[in-house]
Amino acid sequence: MKKIVIVGAGVAGVNAATKLVDNGYPGEMITVIDMGKDPYQRKPEEVMTGFLGAGGWSDGKLTYHTAIGGQLSKYCGEEKAMELMDQVITNFKRFHPKPEEVQCSNPVEEPEFIKPYFGLRLFPVWHVGTDYLSEIAKNWYDYLVSKGVQFYWETKVSNINFRHNEIIMKSVKPEFANMDNDGMFYDELIFGVGKSGIDFAQELANKYELPDEPKSVQIGVRFEAPQEHFQKLIDISYDFKLYRKFDDEGVSLRSFCTNNNAAYVAVEETYGDHSYNGHAKKDEAYRNNMTNFGILMEINGIEDPFTWSREVVNKLQSNGTGLYYSPSRKPSTTSEGNDVTSTQISLDTLAHVVEPAMGGYFKYVMDFIMDMKKVFPTLQDDWGMYIPEVKYLSPEVKVDYKNLALVDYPNVHFVGDALSARGITVSGAQAIYVAESVLGEYKKHVYLYDQGTGDLF
Ligand SMILES: Cc1cc2nc3c(=O)[nH]c(=O)nc-3n(C[C@H](O)[C@H](O)[C@H](O)COP(=O)(O)OP(=O)(O)OC[C@H]3O[C@@H](n4cnc5c(N)ncnc54)[C@H](O)[C@@H]3O)c2cc1C
Repeated sequence: MKKIVIVGAGVAGVNAATKLVDNGYPGEMITVIDMGKDPYQRKPEEVMTGFLGAGGWSDGKLTYHTAIGGQLSKYCGEEKAMELMDQVITNFKRFHPKPEEVQCSNPVEEPEFIKPYFGLRLFPVWHVGTDYLSEIAKNWYDYLVSKGVQFYWETKVSNINFRHNEIIMKSVKPEFANMDNDGMFYDELIFGVGKSGIDFAQELANKYELPDEPKSVQIGVRFEAPQEHFQKLIDISYDFKLYRKFDDEGVSLRSFCTNNNAAYVAVEETYGDHSYNGHAKKDEAYRNNMTNFGILMEINGIEDPFTWSREVVNKLQSNGTGLYYSPSRKPSTTSEGNDVTSTQISLDTLAHVVEPAMGGYFKYVMDFIMDMKKVFPTLQDDWGMYIPEVKYLSPEVKVDYKNLALVDYPNVHFVGDALSARGITVSGAQAIYVAESVLGEYKKHVYLYDQGTGDLF
């Protein structure tokens, strides 16, 4: 019988363990290790760690579309991906104290006025209810414990020897500070450390020189305008996602992270350079009736996307800030009433500095804006953009698509945000996918064992 060790009791780890025990895998052969706490001990401020990980204290929105939440259908195909996401949603409902309250919002079809110029990505979302997540976590945990799954809480894995199938871990409880590291062997390892373990995942990737998938560049601008121009669309979808694709040129564009009502542009500083993002306040006192969203280009085929993006961002700085262009407006203020730091530039600078700095891709952003003016006719010149907005994507290790195992270490499976997910449903679905492949092997052996022709692992 194979010993399965799951590092990370987040959304991914918990769904993997559940799939295994639901299908008869003995819980005693499954160990889950997490540096956070069990759901009875976890405090509200422990946002990223503990049972159900970041998903356990999240907004509880389960998105249900393969274009949202990271990579899934790439590995297993569209149909299988939807089926796996169904399983995750079923798990959340199953341990929910009031499953009938889990609501699905499924926005209407793309409105006619958008169609000639943009795609509008509409997708169903299941609302679990943030306030119920803690109850769900307790019920779910009790079930796994009742099935015999072994949990190690407040235990941080600090190293993994992929060659000798051994993990090194240590309690993070202050009273054990002087204790030595412990080792534990595994036959199969499911690695789901989420965003809180991203540095650790990167350390392992460097140490074992794990090959990674080619990445795209994600760069563009933060667009801002009075909300009234977009209200027609906001009424249909608060966080609307306009998109368009130029397959032949390897470029696609999308509006990203829309903020409304009390919406402010935020300056981000990465690697010493300024770029822009946005956020919205809930308090009515901050209402400014503005809308902001990223217009992000995904550019494929650039050899070293990270270095390329950093160089572009560096070229788009002036006077120690990023840039602002508007045909009619001035930069806005932050919610604290300070100017959003930026250097206002002319149309000439836009054409002769920004366009070449972005490697000739900036024209796609301008086309996007010009077509928005057609879809939202009152917009005209009443808008501005902060340049640049950028997403530095972390590397995605190369895995075998059939079981998400590292190409050189077939018993080590990466799942969830540590691989390529960016949301609850996809993280859980990737983990169930891995559990199914482990179960496939297990069931084959049980069958042979029952026939008297094999050993049980
Ligand atoms: C505030 C917030 C709100 C969010 N809201 C939503 C939402 O509404 N909808 C949505 O789809 N997504 C949301 N997300 C994203 C979602 O929570 C994650 O995509 C998802 O939880 C990832 O699952 P995971 O299992 O990969 O990682 P996590 O759920 O993050 O779990 C990783 C676990 O690994 C443990 N760990 C890390 N390193 C180690 C180590 N070295 N040793 C031992 N244990 C370790 C951590 O303690 C953690 O429990 C939100 C995220 C945050 C932070």
